[in-house]
Amino acid sequence: MDPSLILDGLNDAQREAVCAPDGANLVLAGAGSGKTRVLIHRIAWDIDVMGASPFSILAVTFTNKAAAEMRGRVENMLNQPVQGMWIGTFHGLCHRLLRQHWKEAALPQGFQIIDSEDQVRYLKRLIRGLELDEAYYPPRQVAGFINHHKEEGRRAAAVPLARDPKYAEWVRIYQTYEDACQRAGIVDFAELLLRAWEMLKSSEPLRAHYQKRFQHILVDEFQDTNSIQYSWLRLLAGGHKNLFVVGDDDQSIYGWRGAKVENILKFERDYPGAKTVRLEQNYRSTGNILKAANAVIDNNDTRLGKNLWTDAGEGEKVRLYAAYNEVDEARYVVDQIQKSVDDNRRRDESAILYRSNAQSRVFEELLISAGMPYRVYGGLRFFERAEIKDALAYLRLMTNRDDDVSFERVVNTPTRGIGNRTVEIIRDIARNNSISMWRAASQAVNNKLLPARAANAVNTFLELIDSMAAERNEDDLEGAVNIVLEYSTLLEHYKSDKSEKAQAKTENLEELLSAARMFEFDEEEGLGELDAFLSHAALEAGEQQGAEWDDCVQLMSLHSAKGLEFPQVFLTGMEEELFPHRNSMSDAGKLEEERRLCYVGMTRAREQLFLSYAESRRLYGQTHPARPSRFIDEITEELRDRVRAAGPARSGIVGYGGAAASAFASPMRKTGVEVANGIKLGSRVRHAKFGDGMVTNYEGSGESARVQVNFEFAGQKWLVLAFANLEVVS
Ligand code: ATP
Ligand code: MG
Repeated sequence: MDPSLILDGLNDAQREAVCAPDGANLVLAGAGSGKTRVLIHRIAWDIDVMGASPFSILAVTFTNKAAAEMRGRVENMLNQPVQGMWIGTFHGLCHRLLRQHWKEAALPQGFQIIDSEDQVRYLKRLIRGLELDEAYYPPRQVAGFINHHKEEGRRAAAVPLARDPKYAEWVRIYQTYEDACQRAGIVDFAELLLRAWEMLKSSEPLRAHYQKRFQHILVDEFQDTNSIQYSWLRLLAGGHKNLFVVGDDDQSIYGWRGAKVENILKFERDYPGAKTVRLEQNYRSTGNILKAANAVIDNNDTRLGKNLWTDAGEGEKVRLYAAYNEVDEARYVVDQIQKSVDDNRRRDESAILYRSNAQSRVFEELLISAGMPYRVYGGLRFFERAEIKDALAYLRLMTNRDDDVSFERVVNTPTRGIGNRTVEIIRDIARNNSISMWRAASQAVNNKLLPARAANAVNTFLELIDSMAAERNEDDLEGAVNIVLEYSTLLEHYKSDKSEKAQAKTENLEELLSAARMFEFDEEEGLGELDAFLSHAALEAGEQQGAEWDDCVQLMSLHSAKGLEFPQVFLTGMEEELFPHRNSMSDAGKLEEERRLCYVGMTRAREQLFLSYAESRRLYGQTHPARPSRFIDEITEELRDRVRAAGPARSGIVGYGGAAASAFASPMRKTGVEVANGIKLGSRVRHAKFGDGMVTNYEGSGESARVQVNFEFAGQKWLVLAFANLEVVS
């Protein structure tokens, strides 16, 4: 292809970076300056102009979604599908390596990944088993301690012992946990990285193989890599040193998870002669937004310092809304979005950003009342729901009997007469003999270590899992899920419970079946379909699965907004103690991280940026007076405009005002519009299967009219009126 095609649409500095000679390259530049764009063009350049094989490309992104987008854009540019290229997150890529080389990694073939919640639960049990007091060794903090050391590349044995005997206990717990995970064949998130790094470090042939294969290594959001990730990159790039990294020190927001912004400085030291390109033109935001963001970040002392300008014109000022309380804030935001929709703007051009996930609920309630579809990123995640995890635990046991986390989860779920006492005996046997719970349970049964009734119940469980595994057909994933739902009697268990909660759980389990049916199996990954599905559930749970409605208002935490952009951004909850977060206020370093987070949020906006704060806020069940965030003061006054709510309530939305807080007691609704025989927007309706809910949207008319109902337990659903048999409740 003509190289100029790949350089089209790039400015001089961007071109310089894209065509830079092989070697270590660093693009250090502010938000919206085209770093990600440069990275994508660089891949296309390597393949198309430099003749690199896609097999030689390894690109690291921050989310799986970003990875998919990147692949799509490269393919678009090259006008052909690109196979063999590895693009993914650090976790995803390390997982792939471990699956392919489980032997070298000293893992069982069917090893399973546990998420952070499972990690804490597991630790809780181990701490109890060691007869230590949880009050002194809180499982969550112990997990943090362990992850921190793993992120620094330290196994328990390598943690330097302090004199404090209590510290030694923490290390002992780490060691116990490490041994237990190894026996059980389970791997936590931090372990994925550490294990993959250790494997490459210790196996010369493997290292040589991958060093030779991945001639081109590219990393987006480099400022958020932690020590072990950086070491991993260095190992892989060991021979050729072709590392192309892009990042922005001002957007480093994962210090609390071990990310080291110093890696940027280290990079220049570790690769003497590395070429650094700075991009200074911002293409994303208008002048006022950019100046406001620059004014805020300017208050940080530890910066590499950058100039960022735009020729997009001044644009509108940043708008600042002082809300009476959190309901008023949400109402204002929803109102503004409604206005922009009335002006023919798509809903997904608006993003509502917040510091803490708990803030989303109020927005959701108002969006529902306004009949506006929305999507929450990183909210309650499908694969993290209890009933789904139960079903997954059965699946995991089918592939790896030694998975203690799964064993404990379902040995008595649904109840089958295996009491705590029995489980404790099994746990003791496991601990004393350094074997998994599964093996301990078999021993307990065979050697008659349990009372007859308990032994019977345990034996039935062991046989149940074995028969499930025997029944399963290797390449029928949906079939495997079906086996679980039936044999485990999970489905039956919830079906027999007539409460609405149980109904929602039944539906979720049924949804798992469709998730299995829809699962796109990529054989290239080198693992079986069930394993691929389980890994997907563990690794990609945090990201939104496909929604049925594609034009939705976007809701997400500031952390998940990284790298994205929207024409209209609402940065909400700009209050001291909420943002900056109260845990960060007394520590200069943490406060700077909060400010960078604010910078990230502001620079997501292309045309309009709204900041809002409430004078009093109810969060986590308590109401507090609130003060505006210091970050607001840091924006020069001429860049911002204080706005008020537009006079009386927007037509159609009623019920707020002085008694805003009571708005939830009787949900606000868009009145009027009758969809069909007695059903209106806002009607409360009852469905035989989904229970009660409120009509929030509709489309079409007559026979084919469809309504969207937000069911209390079953969530949002689109239903064809002619078939749904909805009964109007009020
Ligand atoms: P962030 O720091 O937020 O990750 P970034 O530096 O990665 O931002 P990009 O997302 O690559 O920036 O680019 C920001 C926006 O500017 C995108 O919409 C991109 O398409 C556009 N853009 C980048 N470079 C150019 C260019 N030379 N001409 C026109 N548009 C550009
Ligand atoms: Mg980017």
